[in-house]
Amino acid sequence: LRTYSYINLTFLSGKRFATYNPATGVKICDVEEADRLDVDKAVEAAKAAGKRGSPWRKMDVSSRGRLLNKLADLMERDRTLLATLETMDTGKPFLHSFFIDLDGSIKTLRYYAGWADKIHGKTMPVDDNFMCFTKHEPIGVCGAIIPWNFPLLMFVWKIAPALCCGNTVIVKPAEQTPLTALHMGSLIKECGFPPGVVNILPGFGPTAGAAISSHMDIDKVAFTGSTEVGKLIKEAAARSNLKRVTLELGGKNPCIVLADADLQLAVEEVQRGAFFNQGQCCTAAARVFVEEPVYEEFVRRSVESAKKVAVGDPMDPRMSHGPQIDQRQVDKILDLIEAGKREGAKLECGGCAVEDRGLFVQPTVFSGVRDHMRIATEEIFGPVQCIFSFKSQEEAIDRANRTQYGLAAAVFTRDMDRALSISSALQAGTVWVNCYNALHVQAPFGGYKMSGNGRELGEYALAEYSEVKAVTIRLTEKP
Ligand code: ADP
Repeated sequence: LRTYSYINLTFLSGKRFATYNPATGVKICDVEEADRLDVDKAVEAAKAAGKRGSPWRKMDVSSRGRLLNKLADLMERDRTLLATLETMDTGKPFLHSFFIDLDGSIKTLRYYAGWADKIHGKTMPVDDNFMCFTKHEPIGVCGAIIPWNFPLLMFVWKIAPALCCGNTVIVKPAEQTPLTALHMGSLIKECGFPPGVVNILPGFGPTAGAAISSHMDIDKVAFTGSTEVGKLIKEAAARSNLKRVTLELGGKNPCIVLADADLQLAVEEVQRGAFFNQGQCCTAAARVFVEEPVYEEFVRRSVESAKKVAVGDPMDPRMSHGPQIDQRQVDKILDLIEAGKREGAKLECGGCAVEDRGLFVQPTVFSGVRDHMRIATEEIFGPVQCIFSFKSQEEAIDRANRTQYGLAAAVFTRDMDRALSISSALQAGTVWVNCYNALHVQAPFGGYKMSGNGRELGEYALAEYSEVKAVTIRLTEKP
């Protein structure tokens, strides 16, 4: 059984697809393409690897943890290579790949390596002459469908808790960005994970992705991507075998800046939140509500700072802003920018593609944005900051919550009482106070409302990758 996919080998499908460098438009290489039959084959391998009596199931939990740590060691060894592949495939600045994506990925593996031998059940006092305890067991074969904005980080966010809990995995990287997942395949093999425990299947959504979400022998699917595709996946899961589903979907994340905030801190954090990863983040700081007395100054400083963003070759360490992932995304962003202008928002800076540079879009700031505008309601997934003004705290909270999404939110103020009451009122899975994008592997991450189901990271993710079994034993005496 084939368990790993490598560049220029062939799957059953016999097809290949090209992956491109979005900074240059140049093809990097061809990658073999998995289709439905390849998913079937990988599922067989994963089932065999996870069945009772298999080396993976018999492995000591501490050894499982050691393997995850070893994988982190190999990532550290290959850190420059992985960061280079990630930058070539996504266009994100190399220093971000090296310090942010790699750092987060390695920390995630080490964090779950530590959990591998600490996944405990409970003993419950039950009525009558019985004893009852719970065991947390692997779910089985877990599918993971990964997006292109953080290919390596999302790969690790999914495989680390899944493996820590003893599952086997089928991973489909996004068709735009298969390269780091493929290198991880070779590291997983080098580490000594038993064959079939991790299966990597590059391919397209409607074929390989749909085959995963509708497969009768995949027990769980974890997805990160658009809300639209998230719905398809949940539907396919329901129609097939009711597999467990966790979804991490879109966002239209509000930031509330109160007049007493450290204004410079707010300007910097919020704008980094809007432009980070070229705005291609589900946590992008999409709607910035600024209290009237500081609104004009906030806009002025934001525009000044946006004009200074260094846009260019992502391999150049002086650049902090690269290209968008592909033409489809650029077209969508430019269309929304046009809609913003047409609907009467004030374009303060940016607003178009960078001349002669294919997929680069200028960091853009709109002020005077109104709640009904398309730029205020639709996920842009590009470097576009939208600034609104507000008069009262209650108004800001109401408007912040008036969205189908609920992934992240932020509040900037020096008053901790107000920060706490606003945090409680915001409908979001994550609230940042005086910071933005402060993600930690120890803390759960996920969405309210249409931003998703379930939580990744932290102890909470363990529940998404295990089944709980209650074992009840009849006793002759009451214990
Ligand atoms: P985007 O629109 O930003 O490319 P998507 O949500 O379409 O994001 O893609 C995220 C991941 O979902 C990718 O790996 C993609 O191949 C996959 N995908 C897309 N369509 C489907 C589908 N119908 N079923 C399963 N996976 C899909």
